[in-house]
Amino acid sequence: MPFDTAISKITAIAGLFLLELVARQSYFAAMKTAFSHVTHWVFDLDNTLYPPEAALFDQIEVKMTEYVMRELKVDEQRASYLREHYWQTYGTTLSGMMREHDVDPLPYLNEVHEIDLDHLTKDIALRGHIQDLPGRKIVYTNGSKFHADRVLEARGLDGIFDAVYGIEHSDFHPKPSRPAYQVIVDTDGIETTRAAMFEDDPRNLEVPHDMGMKTVLVGAPAPRDYIHHQTEDLTAFLSQIVR
Ligand SMILES: [Mg+2]
Repeated sequence: MPFDTAISKITAIAGLFLLELVARQSYFAAMKTAFSHVTHWVFDLDNTLYPPEAALFDQIEVKMTEYVMRELKVDEQRASYLREHYWQTYGTTLSGMMREHDVDPLPYLNEVHEIDLDHLTKDIALRGHIQDLPGRKIVYTNGSKFHADRVLEARGLDGIFDAVYGIEHSDFHPKPSRPAYQVIVDTDGIETTRAAMFEDDPRNLEVPHDMGMKTVLVGAPAPRDYIHHQTEDLTAFLSQIVR
C-alpha cells in the first residue's frame, strides 16, 4: 500500500475513533444531567436487584399455590389459576387473597418467602455503584421486608440502603396501586420530583411517573410513554450516572 494511502486510512480511522469518543462523552454527560436533580433513589427488589435468571419467583409461586390450595381447599390447577388471576387483578396474589378471602397477610408472607437463596451471588460492582449514588437509597418491594433483607444479604447489598420497605409498610396495598406508593412516599418523606424509581415490572412505573419521578425499566424494552429509561444491565446503567 502506498505511504499516502496508508496515512489517509489511518487518519480516517482516527477520525472515526474521535467521533465515537465525543459521542460517548456527550451520552454520559446527558445521562448524568438526566439524574442530576435526583436525591431519592428507589429500587424494586425482585428481578431488579438480582437477575431474573435467579428465578426466585419459581420457588415463591410454588409456595403461593400450596398456600392457596390449603387456605381455599382447592386443587392445584384452580390454586394456580387464582394465584395468577389475583396477581393480574390486584397487583399481588396476597392482595386478592386478602380482599376476596380475608386471609391474614403475615403468616402468608412468612411462608411464601421461605425459599432457597443459595444460588444468589454477591454483586460487588452493583454494591459500589449504589453506594456512590448521591442521596437517600431505598428498597421498596411488594414482598415482605424479611424477604428483602435476606435477598439483599445474599447479593452483598446489605447495609447500603437507608430504608427497606416491604408490603407490610404500605398497609398491604401493592404496587402498582397509587395508595401503595403514597404511603411509602409519606413515610419516607420522598420529594417525588427529586426521586428516581427502578423497576422490572413496567406497570409499576406508571404511578411513579405521574408523581413526578424519573422512571427506569430494568428489563426488556416495553415502550410506554411513562418510562424514561430502559436497561437490561442495572450495574452498567448506574455506572453511567455516577461515573
Ligand atoms: Mg420486581
